[in-house]
Amino acid sequence: MNPYNKEYAIARDENDPLKQFRTRFVNPDPELLYLDGNSLGMLPADTARHMDQVINNEWGKGLIRSWNTGWYERSAELAAQLAPLIGAQPDEVMIADSTSVNLFKLAYAALHHQKGRKGIVSDQLNFPSDIYVLQGLVELFGNRHKLRMAQSADELSVTMEELEKHLSDDTALLTLSYVVFKSAFMYDMKAVTALAHEKGAMVLWDLSHAAGAVPVHLNESNADLAIGCTYKYLNGGPGAPAFLYVRKDLQEKLKSPIQGWFGQQNPFAFNMEYQPATGINRFLAGTPPLLSVSALEPALQLMNEAGIQNLRKKSILQTNYLISLAEENLVPLGFALASPKDEEQRGSHVSIRHPEAYRICKALIDPHTGRKAVIPDFRDPDNIRLGVAPLYNTFLDIFEAVMELKLIVEQELYNKFPLTRETVT
Ligand SMILES: *Cc1c(COP(=O)(O)O)cnc(C)c1O
Repeated sequence: MNPYNKEYAIARDENDPLKQFRTRFVNPDPELLYLDGNSLGMLPADTARHMDQVINNEWGKGLIRSWNTGWYERSAELAAQLAPLIGAQPDEVMIADSTSVNLFKLAYAALHHQKGRKGIVSDQLNFPSDIYVLQGLVELFGNRHKLRMAQSADELSVTMEELEKHLSDDTALLTLSYVVFKSAFMYDMKAVTALAHEKGAMVLWDLSHAAGAVPVHLNESNADLAIGCTYKYLNGGPGAPAFLYVRKDLQEKLKSPIQGWFGQQNPFAFNMEYQPATGINRFLAGTPPLLSVSALEPALQLMNEAGIQNLRKKSILQTNYLISLAEENLVPLGFALASPKDEEQRGSHVSIRHPEAYRICKALIDPHTGRKAVIPDFRDPDNIRLGVAPLYNTFLDIFEAVMELKLIVEQELYNKFPLTRETVT
């Protein structure tokens, strides 16, 4: 069968063992191809029903009593369901706050613990918010630290040699995104963690573009700390609360910079002295956003039902398929692949580059007569990211999206869109 035609895509979908999971999501528009699950995951069909129950029964009828009938433990219970997806023990993970806030708390904890050391290492490909948080911490600690940024020679990846150049016996913390947000480059977590540990540095992984997309092995890699968000591949909803991970043996040694009552040993004793809780709870600050936390339940249920290994297997098939279609149809039109070709070094999205990327994205999103709209996302200056969420994306989605891209560039349909950028791209 010709792998570049539509029948091939349809046949792949028919043979997909995970195909029924697509029907477990709300898909209001059959004319829409959604390839942005790496920015905001789709809405699971069970979420609305579940939230109706939480709102009307737990809140509406139970009122404050619901704190004693499930609310108080909910963040920890859902964290325990997330733990196997990231290779951690249930009592090493907590749902709390946002990714940026969790990064602040855990990076602070690491710098505080490694008091004598002055180096912080990250890389040029990291998510800017992560770097802002680190810059803020340098200032907070009185400008004693130096933030060093490992460079990328190809704008896609960073080598072990480059990381090693920046690490020394003075490094307190190495913090990286396990899967890089633009190129989807994926580090060798075990090797990088071992390299940093050799120098006595702690390692904090940002799993935002990895959790729910690739199996993560925090324990097996002996990772110290991790954070990540739940609204991307984990489908927790816009602004869903984030997670944090602290390896068991480190929990009692580290302290959170935000000493709130939910991190206190006994919040309801209302003591005036702060005593950190034992275990992972000490990294909580205040009352969790219960409604948003609850929305994670149907989402994590779906993930665990599908199995992260099965999802990864499908994701590799789909991203490889996307790359081969792009090479056949798009590279001749001026596109370039902006993700690693090696599947072992790639997460679940594929970036392509084109000088007109911004306007091409506009044209993709605009539903033109008789054609499907495609939602990817655009990242400055010339990146189009195509997120493949194996839980609901089909091979046909990928085929049709590539055909739309081809048509838009061949017929220069992007010409009618202005070059001015919108606030959220
Ligand atoms: C999406 C993402 C974030 C988001 O941080 P928020 O605090 O949830 O806005 C942080 N880091 C990385 C690497 C991300 O991809």
